[in-house]
Amino acid sequence: MMRIGTTTLDELGRLIFPSEIRNMLNWQIGNKVNIHYVDLNTTILQLAAEPIDDACNICGNEKMKISIKGVGICKRCMDQIRALGSLRLFSE
Ligand SMILES: [Zn+2]
Repeated sequence: MMRIGTTTLDELGRLIFPSEIRNMLNWQIGNKVNIHYVDLNTTILQLAAEPIDDACNICGNEKMKISIKGVGICKRCMDQIRALGSLRLFSE
């Protein structure tokens, strides 16, 4: 692990990262950053993965093909939902 800078927690609980450090880490304004606790002396900041807009909202499959009322669902999940509907029909 290598220290690349120091910043101060302000009165509102914010940390300011100088542009040199943001550029070095390829952090952009609006990026989400995960905070990982290791121990009392060590905390790790990690750029969060970008959400994939086309991913299925049920299983996360990146090949979402169907959108129902604005909710993206992949074909596999849609088939499973259809199968559940068929099961209900048979049980009634
Ligand atoms: Zn799915």
